[in-house]
Amino acid sequence: QSQEVSQARIDYHVALQALQEHGTRMVCTGKMHTDRICRFDYLCYCSEAEEFVFFHSNSSVMLPNLGSRRFQPALLDLSSVEDHNTQYFNFVELPAAALKFMPKPVFVPDITLILNRFNPDNLMHVFHDDLLPAYYTMKQYSDLDDEARLVFMEGWGEGPHFDLYRLLSSKQPLLKEQLKNFGKLMCFTKSYVGLSKMTTWYQYGFVQPQGPKANILVSGNEIRQFARALMDKMNITRVEEMEKEGGSAEDEKEKEKKDDYIVVFSRSTTRLILNEAELIMALAQEFQMRVVTVSLEEQSFPSIVEVISGASMLVSMHGAQLITSLFLPRGAAVVELFPFAVNPEQYTPYKTLASLPGMDLHYISWRNTKEENTVTHPDRSWEQGGIAHLDKEEQDRIQASKEVPRHLCCRNPEWLFRIYQDTLVDIPSFLEVLKEGMKTKPSLKKAKVASMVHPGRVREPKCQTSVQTTNEAKLTVSWQIPWNLKFLKVREVKYEVWIQEQGENTYMPYILPQQNYTFSENIKPFTTYLVWVRCIFNKNLLGPFADVLTCRT
Ligand code: UDP
Repeated sequence: QSQEVSQARIDYHVALQALQEHGTRMVCTGKMHTDRICRFDYLCYCSEAEEFVFFHSNSSVMLPNLGSRRFQPALLDLSSVEDHNTQYFNFVELPAAALKFMPKPVFVPDITLILNRFNPDNLMHVFHDDLLPAYYTMKQYSDLDDEARLVFMEGWGEGPHFDLYRLLSSKQPLLKEQLKNFGKLMCFTKSYVGLSKMTTWYQYGFVQPQGPKANILVSGNEIRQFARALMDKMNITRVEEMEKEGGSAEDEKEKEKKDDYIVVFSRSTTRLILNEAELIMALAQEFQMRVVTVSLEEQSFPSIVEVISGASMLVSMHGAQLITSLFLPRGAAVVELFPFAVNPEQYTPYKTLASLPGMDLHYISWRNTKEENTVTHPDRSWEQGGIAHLDKEEQDRIQASKEVPRHLCCRNPEWLFRIYQDTLVDIPSFLEVLKEGMKTKPSLKKAKVASMVHPGRVREPKCQTSVQTTNEAKLTVSWQIPWNLKFLKVREVKYEVWIQEQGENTYMPYILPQQNYTFSENIKPFTTYLVWVRCIFNKNLLGPFADVLTCRT
């Protein structure tokens, strides 16, 4: 029976019978609603009630079976934004016998991924909250392949970036609105509900001021693999790859030099750079490179990505368009401009992205510190930073303020007022920041050679002790290299030894280049020491500690 159901064209009667007999089956991962993804057989959706339906029968399964804790506050988050109360998923329960009294279900044969897009109008949100999480959720569950169907339940229309969502699978994604067209009751033969949050690096400030997530679990490697996959889908040939093919190192250097260019990502409606032409001239002059501008208003997204994927530097005002820095080649620089009174240190989605290990981007920020160079828009709508609706006193306070204080998302009028200013970029200070920033530009050669491989545990750790006098003793610790070291070329191998007197809270750490050492300072006779040893590659790749040694002098 299950074989029949898994075929592309499902036998309606078989499916209906399976639903009636077995009801819905759900098995989830995750301990909490914030890290849960559920897999369902025969999850149904009633479009009239706008509710998902779980049909109970003798063989239905619901794991976790939370009882009414399922509503405290929800079974899971439908979007990748953590614990947002507009993004919760739950279902209504019914006995399978109720099917007799309900409209005939329509079965969806595709393996379906059901999720909420968080803010499909904003390019940063599209990538960070939806595309990357959906891409890696699909990698996590291998039956969510190129034939998978995506269903967006947040209730919005397609939005301006729907073509990007289309790249995730060969099937047209469905919007909540369209589910009605399938009849009053539709049942997903096999579906996954929820998104992996593993790839997100930023929290938008719903409970604490915005900033990098506390525990980032993604590296540049995964971001770049995603970027490459998306570029392949967009049929973009990568400049980076083409340059690698053929030619001597000299030729290549020559070619690279000639082809180097800077991209200025311009915004045409809000948060403008008022002297863009001057900025472009200054960049061209300073770096002796071509400067090209792109904007979402003027180019197709794939053509923008094509340009960015070959650029040496991307310069832009703070804003969602900077998410395209994930398409920059390794070694490129991201230069983010901030309007007056906005502190770059507090708004770091793009800095955090550029700084992910293995992203290999060089991040530089510039802020306008000259009030005379800013143009405010107090009379605009509040969404675009207008403050005319506020008390006079509050307006005056905001106008007089020199820096937006820390705040929560999303309607802080002072923040909106300042972030929607237009800026006349002061060229000398901009070039100064740029030159200063480029001085510390890490050499890509170094970054490439630097291995990502961590040491294994040191092997056969041993200790030997001897007592010299009534107040002198020696402790010799030795070990063998980690098993994986013999397969690796590592620039620098060091060992760290921690020695703790039993019962004490503190320990003495030592860094050693060799595989054994005799400690005599601070070693007392007739005392028990606990000794930990681990290996370190290239100063910062820490291995695990070997089992603790107990050494009695
Ligand atoms: N946007 C744009 N040009 C503009 C203003 C906005 O292309 O002049 C885009 C922007 O990149 C984002 C969306 O419109 O994808 C919403 O912009 P908003 O200013 O609301 O968000 P932010 O850029 O601050 O995240």
